[in-house]
Amino acid sequence: MSEYIIKNGRVFDPVQGIKGDKKDIFVRDDKIVDSVGSGAKIIDARDKTVMAGAIEVHAHVAGPKVNAGRWYRPEDKHFDSHKTAGITRIEGGKSIPTVFKTGYEYARMGFTFAMEAAMPPLYARHVHEEIHDTPIIDEAALPVFGNNWFILEYLKNQEIENTAAYIAWILNQTKGYGVKVVNPGGTEAWAWGLNCLSIHDPVPYFDITPAEIITGLMAANEYLGLPHSMHLHQNNLGNPGNYTTTLESLKLAEGVKAKNNFGREQVLHSTHLQFHSYKGTNWGDFESGAKEVMDYVNRQKNLTIDTGNVTLDETTTMTADGPFEHHLHGLNHLKWFNVDVELETAAGVVPFIYDPNNAVFASQWAVGLEIALYANDPMRCFITTDHPNAGPFTRYPRVYSWLMSKKVRDERLNTFKKADKVISATTLANSTARSRSMSWQP
Ligand SMILES: [Zn+2]
Repeated sequence: MSEYIIKNGRVFDPVQGIKGDKKDIFVRDDKIVDSVGSGAKIIDARDKTVMAGAIEVHAHVAGPKVNAGRWYRPEDKHFDSHKTAGITRIEGGKSIPTVFKTGYEYARMGFTFAMEAAMPPLYARHVHEEIHDTPIIDEAALPVFGNNWFILEYLKNQEIENTAAYIAWILNQTKGYGVKVVNPGGTEAWAWGLNCLSIHDPVPYFDITPAEIITGLMAANEYLGLPHSMHLHQNNLGNPGNYTTTLESLKLAEGVKAKNNFGREQVLHSTHLQFHSYKGTNWGDFESGAKEVMDYVNRQKNLTIDTGNVTLDETTTMTADGPFEHHLHGLNHLKWFNVDVELETAAGVVPFIYDPNNAVFASQWAVGLEIALYANDPMRCFITTDHPNAGPFTRYPRVYSWLMSKKVRDERLNTFKKADKVISATTLANSTARSRSMSWQP
């Protein structure tokens, strides 16, 4: 039997409405209990926050594309490598930290778990090697299905049961956790030098549309009753005017019911919504579509989202959205890495500098904050930076401070050279301060 007391900490638990009370927590054999014996080990948590371990729902922290980023960007670790003598192994890298640094940095912020958001099944072993080498935190991984040839064939023939059987086999073989879909059909079209920018664009050769892939994979996910709903990176990421594609994709979940083996109501998780909530026709007349998208999300109880907050850093973008990375390379002309994973997916990696004095990047910063501030139900809205795409996860404390204090975000906004453009393209300047901990209800 192991017993300990976490003493004198400030305890936070939104579910029970505990908001920073000074309390002692008693633990026996990994479970919180009312009391423990006199021989219990005491952990002094004076001046510290005591909370449930934070959960990272979407980050790129393990596997081949993360590693590609590490080896082709040595500059990422030139100025940010160190070792705490006798305690940690060497920590290197800023936007694409080593596995050691990844575990340490999440743990320092109170995280106990991170989900690797895109695992190519054929490279599952590499993903698990890195998960195994990541200290302190737990990790899991979502295999990608949205451009897999077997899936496309089954769904073209409307064979939901076969789709589900294939998903079950892949999850078992790769030790994956759930169904991830990245630019459905678009990454496969990329093999032909094409893309699917709307959910009705046909995928070459397979004669199927992104809408059919999304609908079919949601059905297969519920057929299996998996613990997590289908996890979607929508088509048309990062382009002005894409909020209509986003709304069309989310509407595919209307009327879909969760099988509910795990007590969840949600059937679709929409990831890094910031990158999918733009109005306008080009980067000149770009505007935020966060309100339109979040008004819809707020009404539909069977959706969850994460934000994808831009932190205004130099970072490294990486995604199974192969055509998007090529497009990004065309915009910023920095180096580009691309790989095709036969019959399954592709991936691209491009460094990116979110210059705060660029009106578009500063507006993306604002859109990410708007997404979270518009969310009526914080239990369905997760904060992410889509690490490292919109910024390194180590910037979460900054993101939280921007969200929790209007004063702090206004201060940041006013440092932008083109603050006036950000103010006219988004509604952030009008948003009121919110202290979410006061209104959180499960
Ligand atoms: Zn991602």
